[in-house]
Amino acid sequence: MKIQEADAKSLLLAQGLPVPPWKVARTSAEVAAAAMSFLDAGAGKVVIKAQVLVGGRGKAGGVKLAGSADEAADVGSRILGMDIKGITVRKVLVGAAAEIVKEYYLGAIIDRASRCIVLMASAEGGVEIEEVARQNPGAIHRVSADPLLGLLAFQARALGLAIGLRDPLLTPFVEIAQGLYATMKANDADLVEVNPLAIVAERAADGSATQRLVCLDAKITLDDSGLARHPNLEAYRDLDEEDPTDAEARRLGINFIHLDGTIGCMVNGAGLAMTTMDLVKHYGGEPANFLDVGGGARRETVCGAMELILADPHVNAILVNIFGGITRGDEVASGLIEARAEQKREVPMVVRIVGTNAVEAARLLTEANFETAASLDEAAEKAVALSKGAAR
Ligand code: GDP
Ligand code: MN
Repeated sequence: MKIQEADAKSLLLAQGLPVPPWKVARTSAEVAAAAMSFLDAGAGKVVIKAQVLVGGRGKAGGVKLAGSADEAADVGSRILGMDIKGITVRKVLVGAAAEIVKEYYLGAIIDRASRCIVLMASAEGGVEIEEVARQNPGAIHRVSADPLLGLLAFQARALGLAIGLRDPLLTPFVEIAQGLYATMKANDADLVEVNPLAIVAERAADGSATQRLVCLDAKITLDDSGLARHPNLEAYRDLDEEDPTDAEARRLGINFIHLDGTIGCMVNGAGLAMTTMDLVKHYGGEPANFLDVGGGARRETVCGAMELILADPHVNAILVNIFGGITRGDEVASGLIEARAEQKREVPMVVRIVGTNAVEAARLLTEANFETAASLDEAAEKAVALSKGAAR
C-alpha cells in the first residue's frame, strides 16, 4: 500500500526525524489559511505540493512556491484539480518553503537478493533515482543493515561520507539513516524514501544562517501482508486513488495482481498461481493477472474472482487451475457455472480441476459444456491457443 507524502512524513516524525511542519488543504481557501499561518510565523515563502501517489510531481507542475496568501490561493486553485499522470489532485501539502543548499537522495528498501534492508544514498538527489541508476549507477551508494543488529552507526557514517557529507552534518545524517531503518521496521514498510534529503539554510533574526539536514519529501510503501499488525495504518489508505479492482479483491479476500497480458488466470494457492503463469508464458501466452482465490474458496469467491478477471478488457481467454485440497472441486465448478450464467462478456475458458471432488466437478463442467483439461500443461496450451484464436 502506497501512502501520501503527508502521511509518510507523519511516520518519519514519529521516529524523531527532522521533517518541517506542514498542513494539508483541500480547497484554495484552506491553502490560503495554511499559507497565512506559515507566513505569519516568519516563513518568507510557502511551498504547495500536490498529494498524489506518483513520483515526479515537481516536473509535472505539482510543486510550487508562493510568497503571499493570495498567491498561495491562486497556486492552490491551479494545483487542486490538476491531472498528474492520470490522477486528479484532491489535496495539497502546504509548508514553509525551505532555502535549499543541496539535495541528496536517501532510501531504505528490502533487497531480496541479500535478504536485508539496504540503505541507498546519493549526492544526486531531487531527481528520480531510477534516472540516476540508469545514467550514473556509480553515484548510488549502498549499505546492508544487519538483520539482528540493525543499521549500525559506522555503516551509516560510511554512507554519509560516500555522498560527501562531513561534520557537523554527518552525525545528523547518521541519525536520519537510522531513523529510516527504524521507520521500515516499525511499520513493516517495503520502501522508505526521502528525496530530497536536503541541506537547508535556516536564517536567524540577525540574518545569520545555519545549515541543517531535513526530509523535504517522503515516500513510503507498506507491506500489505504486514498491515494486520498495524491497524492504525489502515487510516492512511487513500480510497480516492485505490484501483476499484484492487478494493474489490481486498473485500473478497482474493490475492489479485493486475498484469499486462491477455490470459486471465484463476488459481488456488500462490505457488500454483506462479507455476500457472510460468506455463502460460512457456506456451507463448501472456498472463493478464496473478490471482489466488485462497484455500477453501466457495462459490461466491469464484464468482467474484471471475468478475475481477473479466473487468480487464484485455482478457480474451481464461485459465482456471484448481488443486482441490480444502477447496472442493465441485464448489468451484458450480461457482464457474453460476459466474458464466451471469457474466456480461463471453470469453473462452479452459478449466482444470483435480483433487477433492474432482470427479463431481468434471461431471458438472461437462454437463455445462465447459472446456476442460486433464493436466496443467494441456490446460495452459489450450488457454494460449484460445487467446491467440480470439486475437485473430
Ligand atoms: P517530487 O517531484 O514528487 O519528488 O516532489 P518533491 O517533494 O521531491 O519536490 C520536487 C522538487 O521541488 C524538489 O526536488 C525541490 O527541488 C523542490 N522543492 C520541494 N520543496 C521545496 C522547498 O521547500 N523549497 C524549495 N526551494 N524547493 C522545494
Ligand atoms: Mn521527491
